[in-house]
Amino acid sequence: MNAVKSIFSPLRAWKYLVKPPVTLPKRFIFEAPREASDSYRGFHQNDLDACIGCGTCSEICPTAAITLVEVEGIEATEGKTNTRPAFDYGRCSFCGLCVDICASDSLNMSKNYVYISKEADNFYFLPQIAGIHGRVDPLGYHRDEVSELLDLGRRKMNLMDISRKSSFLEIVEGFSKEMAFEEASRCVSCGICTSACPAAMHIPEYITSVWKDDLEGGLRDVYKTNPLGNVCGRICTHKCEEVCALGHRGDPIAIRWLKRYIVDHVEENVYTKVATESVLAPTMGKIAVIGSGPSGLSCAYYLRTLGYDVVVYEKQALPGGVIRYGGPAYRLPEESVIRDISMIEASGVEFKCSVDIGTDITLEQLKNKYDAVFLGIGMSESQTLELPGCNHEAVYYGIPFLAEARDYTRGLREMPEIHESAVVVGTGNVAFDVARTLVRMQEIKYGKSDVHMTTRRKFGTLSADVEEVEEGTEEGIHIHYEVHPRYISSENNRLEGLVVESKPGYEETISVKSIYIAAGQVADYKLLPQTIKNEITPKGKLIVNGRGQVESHPWLFAGGDITKGPDIINGVHTGHVAALGIDEWLRGNK
Ligand SMILES: Cc1cc2nc3c(=O)[nH]c(=O)nc-3n(C[C@H](O)[C@H](O)[C@H](O)COP(=O)(O)OP(=O)(O)OC[C@H]3O[C@@H](n4cnc5c(N)ncnc54)[C@H](O)[C@@H]3O)c2cc1C
Ligand code: SF4
Ligand code: SF4
Repeated sequence: MNAVKSIFSPLRAWKYLVKPPVTLPKRFIFEAPREASDSYRGFHQNDLDACIGCGTCSEICPTAAITLVEVEGIEATEGKTNTRPAFDYGRCSFCGLCVDICASDSLNMSKNYVYISKEADNFYFLPQIAGIHGRVDPLGYHRDEVSELLDLGRRKMNLMDISRKSSFLEIVEGFSKEMAFEEASRCVSCGICTSACPAAMHIPEYITSVWKDDLEGGLRDVYKTNPLGNVCGRICTHKCEEVCALGHRGDPIAIRWLKRYIVDHVEENVYTKVATESVLAPTMGKIAVIGSGPSGLSCAYYLRTLGYDVVVYEKQALPGGVIRYGGPAYRLPEESVIRDISMIEASGVEFKCSVDIGTDITLEQLKNKYDAVFLGIGMSESQTLELPGCNHEAVYYGIPFLAEARDYTRGLREMPEIHESAVVVGTGNVAFDVARTLVRMQEIKYGKSDVHMTTRRKFGTLSADVEEVEEGTEEGIHIHYEVHPRYISSENNRLEGLVVESKPGYEETISVKSIYIAAGQVADYKLLPQTIKNEITPKGKLIVNGRGQVESHPWLFAGGDITKGPDIINGVHTGHVAALGIDEWLRGNK
């Protein structure tokens, strides 16, 4: 019987020719597929505007299915690259790790799981908000708290308690080794930060060296574009942190504090080795640098590494510019400045201090003696403010006051004259330096402080850094918002205070015994002949080309605040650019 059945079996299969199929036709699956579950890992969707092109998704992909590709119409900007992730669905295992780690939250997976094409190339796809079918599909898998792969919280740097206001001790403690390791481990090494750093520092590289405990390597990366690691590790404007990939969903990496950790923990002999190992014998020519601020220091150092003999002329008694005579010691201790400058000295740069170019030596004399001249004189003069009554002897300017304060904290002079109460006109970073220095000096001298600041701006819109405002307020500074200084009031030569207009037609007096003006800085161009002064813009900047050269006087290069900035890292960068420019120009000339 079984044998008969098996003979007729093939014939029975013919009955299926007239039965309806058990599988669904292709068009049904395509047009009305069954809805997937809520967290289904279907094809990707990516908001290309929110995506920053960091490539973190590509780095984590275990099947190497993601490639960052340039996208027409998307420009690289600070904090964003011009690339976006494209997916190879021949490789993708739909694991969702890319979604879990996406820095910007732009990448998700849809519920769509159907795609049919005879063309293999169609499975290599750049998702946008519209997915592979060119439409926005229902949201499928997206990251939740459990699947979060980024460590979004910053390791906090300890700040001295309020007792800080009666001393000039550095107020921010450095990271311990453990804190630095943890903080460095949060970095995804995307390099987005480098695009925002004026000096294009090798940030991911030196952060990696922290968690690898290779501080010598980290310091080497710092020196590639910045010989002021101690200074910048403390008071750099840290623009890099504003764009850090992690900042989109959490705290940006504490890049500045990690740099500080490296420079604070490298042993002295290793430090000197790293700083001087790439210096060449001085056979290439002689260069004069005018001004020893960040731009002059950077230019001088990189010229030495290129084999030039460099002499820096500085009109102050000590080299450093604003980092020596401006930023107060509680933010930037003397030892940090000395360490950076001593390395530049160790590289063979010669410093001639207390020499005022334009008075002691003319620019023409330098031009005749050297192969090229770099000008980095900064904006070291206070902008005057023509307030009626401002000639009173208890009215001071911020910049000379801060210079005296630095000499006081380094033990070179007595405390400058300090009154029991003061108002600072201005609320930028420099004004906060003045006000917080006054708080400290009053506390030391009188055991109490009474410091005010005035601004035309509204609360929350000051140009100073948020930390300055918060810490200054905590130290007891009273900020008067939306007031206009009108005149300085005094009677019988006794200063009564600053009269401000707080509402149209309504004046009030801030009663204080001294007034400090911190309303910006200007350059002193007295050393320049008129032909070079013609190259100065109405805003006071000297016009230079891409290599820092004054084209009408090709032997003259410039950098720092007089060409860009104003901040230290721009000074460092423009000094470096000019060093390379001088080298290029002299080689071309020979
Ligand atoms: C109080 C204060 C606080 C600041 N804090 C910060 C901060 O926290 N972070 C930050 O990034 N930036 C800060 N800045 C800005 C920063 O310091 C400057 O942008 C930077 O120092 C500019 O460097 P530079 O090389 O152009 O010149 P400078 O630092 O201004 O140095 C110029 C040097 O040239 C010398 N010089 C001038 N004329 C002559 C001459 N004729 N002959 C010989 N020498 C001359 C001057 O004496 C000076 O030493 C601060 C600025 C001030 C004023
Ligand atoms: S991780 Fe997110 S932000 Fe970065 S490239 Fe990928 S999709 Fe874009
Ligand atoms: S510091 Fe931030 S932006 Fe820079 S590499 Fe690390 S994660 Fe990326």
